[in-house]
Amino acid sequence: MTATYGLFGYPVHHSWSPFIHGMFARQTGQDMSYRLYESPPERFRSEVLEFFRSGGSGVNVTLPHKRIAADLVNELTPRAQLADAVNTVVRRDERLVGDNTDGAGLLTDLQKNLGLQWSSPRILLLGAGGAARGALGPLLGLRPRLLVVANRSAGRALELVRDFADQGPLSGCEFARLEHQHFDLIVNATSASLRGEVPLIPIDVVDSMTTCYDMAYGAGDTAFVAWAKRLGAGRAEQGWGMLVEQAAEAFHLWRGIRPDTAPVLRALRSRAAMAARSPS
Ligand code: NDP
Repeated sequence: MTATYGLFGYPVHHSWSPFIHGMFARQTGQDMSYRLYESPPERFRSEVLEFFRSGGSGVNVTLPHKRIAADLVNELTPRAQLADAVNTVVRRDERLVGDNTDGAGLLTDLQKNLGLQWSSPRILLLGAGGAARGALGPLLGLRPRLLVVANRSAGRALELVRDFADQGPLSGCEFARLEHQHFDLIVNATSASLRGEVPLIPIDVVDSMTTCYDMAYGAGDTAFVAWAKRLGAGRAEQGWGMLVEQAAEAFHLWRGIRPDTAPVLRALRSRAAMAARSPS
């Protein structure tokens, strides 16, 4: 019987996940379907539970439901517990297990796909929402000399830092406080790029040794990537690779097989490049 999977979010109509999981399934010969569920907050819980009651095998969860999903499942993996956010749910016997594959996806993209290595890096994480929370534990795995979380609402950055206080050399602040600091890696986990905006951080945080990574992605450069390039950043990358790698991690959890992500990433990049060239 075809196993059924899906993505719950609001909105989700723009999502590339069916394309990605479709390619993974064909590549690995899995009999499965994957569809999108446009699920507003007031219906999310009942719709996910109904999906599993009617035989569904697993779901991905995206904005704005990742934290609510952590309350809905019966069990959390350690990394989902740390993040207090769930982007992947799998059925194990009659229990729902929630995982968070975002941070692992980010790290695989940085290290494996982009070939970036640092020794005791100075890291700046911008944002304090679900994606920042999911990335913080894995970024601490890079053994940074310093990891600063900065957010437009400074209180949320401080709260996030408090929750991870015993995990590494962390501090939190507002954007203006970043002046005159240098970072090896800046990860933009704000959603500013989705509106064509750039977080209002001082420009002197970027120099030719800085790698700037935007979790957001799009046809052409995101606003943050374009900004980083203008400032002469050593590298400026967007989140296509993270998207594919977090999906591969979810696929592995569901199907027990690790798909080859390289051809899927190539296909996505070429579609994005085509979309950037086409007049619309
Ligand atoms: P949330 O809504 O949970 O958090 C949004 C964050 O962005 C908050 O910290 C918010 O600050 C900040 N923010 C929003 N607008 C601005 C702005 N104009 N200037 C500065 N800060 C701003 O979103 P998520 O954490 O779930 O997602 C964040 C981003 O990461 C999105 O772009 C999403 O697409 C991307 N993402 C990419 C993934 C991938 O696989 N590539 C996976 C997951 C997420 P405040 O607290 O002050 O409101």
